[in-house]
Amino acid sequence: MDLILKNARRVGAERELTDIGIAGGRIAAIAPGLASGGETVDLGGRLVSPGFVETHIHLDKSCILDRCSSERGDLDEAIAEVAKAKTAFTPEDVHARAVRTLEKAILQGTTHMRTHLEVDPGIGLRGLEGVLPLIKQFSWAIDLQICVFPQEGLLNNPGTDELMVAALERGCRVVGGAPYTDSDPPGQINRIFELARDYDVDVDLHLDFGPTAEGMVFDHVCKRTEEFQYGGRVAIGHVTRATSLPMPAFEAMTRRLADAGVALTVLPSTDLYLMGRHHQHDHNVTRGVVPAHKLLHHGVNCSLSSNNILNPFTPFGDCSQLRMANLYANICQVGTKADMHECFNMVTRRPAEIMRLADYGLAVGNSADLVVLDATEPQMAVAELSPVLYAFKRGRNEYPRSLQRLLPAHPRRAGRRIFRPAARPDLRHQGRLRRRRSSHRERQSGLA
Ligand SMILES: [Zn+2]
Repeated sequence: MDLILKNARRVGAERELTDIGIAGGRIAAIAPGLASGGETVDLGGRLVSPGFVETHIHLDKSCILDRCSSERGDLDEAIAEVAKAKTAFTPEDVHARAVRTLEKAILQGTTHMRTHLEVDPGIGLRGLEGVLPLIKQFSWAIDLQICVFPQEGLLNNPGTDELMVAALERGCRVVGGAPYTDSDPPGQINRIFELARDYDVDVDLHLDFGPTAEGMVFDHVCKRTEEFQYGGRVAIGHVTRATSLPMPAFEAMTRRLADAGVALTVLPSTDLYLMGRHHQHDHNVTRGVVPAHKLLHHGVNCSLSSNNILNPFTPFGDCSQLRMANLYANICQVGTKADMHECFNMVTRRPAEIMRLADYGLAVGNSADLVVLDATEPQMAVAELSPVLYAFKRGRNEYPRSLQRLLPAHPRRAGRRIFRPAARPDLRHQGRLRRRRSSHRERQSGLA
């Protein structure tokens, strides 16, 4: 074994303590009392989970808050402001901002990510040129896949189709869409499915994003999914219009998605920020977040994701998937232990299913992509926003974070700090440490 995590509490089997052995970047054994001459970390009963998975985030347009204004705070303004800012994007600029956001996500324990990426005649392939190198550059820490999509319309925007094809030729593994910005929403959906079939890639659409239930097209997506035999390979994001459906219609939608094998991704931060604004002068603002846990009860797979970071769509963001689960639970009034556990699943194993990750999860033979949380149960990690203490990618520790602890009162400490902050993890620094293996001493000291 290269590394043994001792006294681990695995998600799904939290009652027992066990050891997890890692060799060659994979989980080699899960059993109590593993022995090895290699490195060990005593986790002291803390929770070990597979790494966080983000299926819907926009690296290319992250961190542009300082370039945009947000007066009305609605969807149309966000699209227009980003479209304006995009004209000045260069591959270098996109790359620098994407790195900043990606590093943040890695530090939050995210090990797999699908980033949505825009092409249109305005930006061309400059966004792709900025993001594509990250797949290799950060492969030591995260598996990144790109979903190319036409944010500003496909059929109404000549030249976009050719750019979609070019991006798929250059290695985008998923094709997406935003039919609500197209002059012909069903037509865009049809074309996206054709591209998916031609390139044998999965589909992940921005869909039914709006404040009312009018003009929903999820049924059209279900029909195409069945026709192209794409069940299990299609996800739809936002679907905020469903929050305005009467309950019988909402339940019918749920059954339809389950039957067709279409998954749903909720983007709580964006949806909360943008939805309900049409009521703000005459009503309290209604929330625009789909209660995904109710869909789970009927067999629809769902994930939670950040969507945007620090831009007019969402002027917030720390890339913490755990915070997204906590935010979702709070908004959707999730209180039962089982549903709270599902909130954890919706940022781990459920999005992994959407991404069809073959070697994901805490089982012998799978890739050792793990996070250690300062918690003993997943639902409490969601409730308490437990810090990530370690993140491992293919068995290699990406960063250790010290536990925060209060400093006891002492007369001579008056006026001094009252807690020791967590060590500020620095990925570049850790990159050097990786080569020198000088984290050996810290690993052996353990957390117990
Ligand atoms: Zn999005």
